[in-house]
Amino acid sequence: MRILVSGGAGFIGSALIRYLLSDTEHEVLNLDKLTYAGNLESLASVESSPRYSFLQADIADQAKVSRALAAFEPDAIMHLAAESHVDRSIDGPSAFIQTNVVGTYALLEATRAYWSKLPNARQQAFRFHHISTDEVYGDLHDVDELFTENTPYAPSSPYSASKAASDHLVRAWHRTYGLPALLTNCSNNYGPFHFPEKLIPLVILNALEGKLLPVYGDGSQIRDWLFVEDHARALLKVVTEGRVGETYNIGGHNEQKNIEVVRAICALLEELAPNKPAGLARYEDLITFVKDRPGHDQRYAIDASKIQRELGWVPKETFTSGLRKTVQWYLDNLDWCRHVQDGSYQRERLGASA
Ligand code: NAD
Repeated sequence: MRILVSGGAGFIGSALIRYLLSDTEHEVLNLDKLTYAGNLESLASVESSPRYSFLQADIADQAKVSRALAAFEPDAIMHLAAESHVDRSIDGPSAFIQTNVVGTYALLEATRAYWSKLPNARQQAFRFHHISTDEVYGDLHDVDELFTENTPYAPSSPYSASKAASDHLVRAWHRTYGLPALLTNCSNNYGPFHFPEKLIPLVILNALEGKLLPVYGDGSQIRDWLFVEDHARALLKVVTEGRVGETYNIGGHNEQKNIEVVRAICALLEELAPNKPAGLARYEDLITFVKDRPGHDQRYAIDASKIQRELGWVPKETFTSGLRKTVQWYLDNLDWCRHVQDGSYQRERLGASA
């Protein structure tokens, strides 16, 4: 297949593209605006593949996206481009509405125009796969409750509200215009190439530098963690084998309190990076509790039985095995982290395109 991946320079998009190019024969066009979250260094291992190409474009630029569709002629679009950081959405919701809602609308319209002119067989086979989050469901309080595909939407943050809006648009374009769309709603991802503002990489990198490890509130919030490479495998299953019009929840069956995640990272660092910054007895001593995030959801947990039953997908990594791989990856790739932290990953890109 020829697959257009939007947001392919981001954390999950780059994992998906690395997987598509290393484990399949598919061709990939990575369409990405390269916001602060886009990092082409995450694709260094595959960028020379003849099956890979990159186009810097904003999904909200319908004319440019339409030209890209006409030139690349994709069989599928996997739509990951988004503003994705909850804290940033609280500080400045505008970019979230612009990209996640207006951008998704523009991408849907460009796709509909392209798809409606395809020959019949290609039109039937075409797929628009919208990648979304479990945060659209709001939060859970009952310990036995899980998010299913039928859980009503109740988003809490500007981020999750904008993702919920984009999910509704995709369903409406399927129902109204017959666009062959599929949706996936996934739990928290972690793994290599995760931008250092997110919890797991932030804790690893702060700990190595002897900086405080900030934990919101009392750290009792529960998240269901999925290793990003397991997510990439699930996405390919859905776009190739999923039933059109359906939604699939994707989760790792790995519910952890935030404070447990931070302690587990500290324990791994004691073993894998025993040479601590001067004066530090234990990495755990750096943990500090900070004022809770407004509207902070208490618990997310996914029922992923539908994708398991229908498509035979199950995660390969447990939280223990995936977290060990992740911590080791950061220790082995401090250059990648440094380029993100000092901003040089963006300067190099500006230089290259100037
Ligand atoms: P990310 O922030 O790491 O990457 C987003 C990418 O989209 C970046 O490369 C960025 O440059 C690009 N982008 C942003 N605005 C754009 C625009 N207007 N046009 C084109 N490109 C644009 O995000 P991520 O963590 O990789 O998440 C990818 C998708 O998966 C998002 O839709 C997110 O909502 C969803 N998701 C993420 C998680 C998670 O834990 N990270 C969990 C479930 C679902």
